[in-house]
Amino acid sequence: MYTLYVLDDGRIGQDMIEANCAADLQRLGARLRKVVEARHWSSFPHVETADMAGGFYERLEALQGQRHTYYCGEIMSFSTLECCACYARDLVNRFFKENRCSAIQRFRISAADKLTT
Ligand SMILES: Cc1cc2nc3c(=O)[nH]c(=O)nc-3n(C[C@H](O)[C@H](O)[C@H](O)COP(=O)(O)OP(=O)(O)OC[C@H]3O[C@@H](n4cnc5c(N)ncnc54)[C@H](O)[C@@H]3O)c2cc1C
Repeated sequence: MYTLYVLDDGRIGQDMIEANCAADLQRLGARLRKVVEARHWSSFPHVETADMAGGFYERLEALQGQRHTYYCGEIMSFSTLECCACYARDLVNRFFKENRCSAIQRFRISAADKLTT
């Protein structure tokens, strides 16, 4: 059984998608006998160009930390694991650096205590 991910432009139908998949599989030496399940979903959460140009992200960034709430993930950084991880790290550095440093300090002190006792 194969799992295929298809990025379509919303204009081609399921029949065309399956025909393209069958052709691709054939090139790989496989044969499409049956489609077990096909699911459709919108690509990652995003805004349109006009919204972005209109300051969507400036407004969203200004909400970071309001009411002790922080936002990260695809909506903030684009759809790859690396982008999400980079943004999350940056968020921690921007808003929690002091706490992070003191937590590391506490860990180092307690580890050093254990070594000397
Ligand atoms: C089919 C597919 C293939 C992909 N391939 C790649 C790839 O090859 N390389 C790559 O870099 N990226 C890939 N991506 C993109 C990558 O997976 C995403 O960019 C990344 O996982 C997004 O991280 P996230 O934290 O925003 O969301 P997610 O990883 O979706 O994490 C959100 C989490 O929140 C949980 N959740 C949702 N609602 C609630 C709730 N109400 N309460 C509690 N928990 C909740 C969900 O269960 C989930 O665990 C792929 C994505 C898809 C869909």
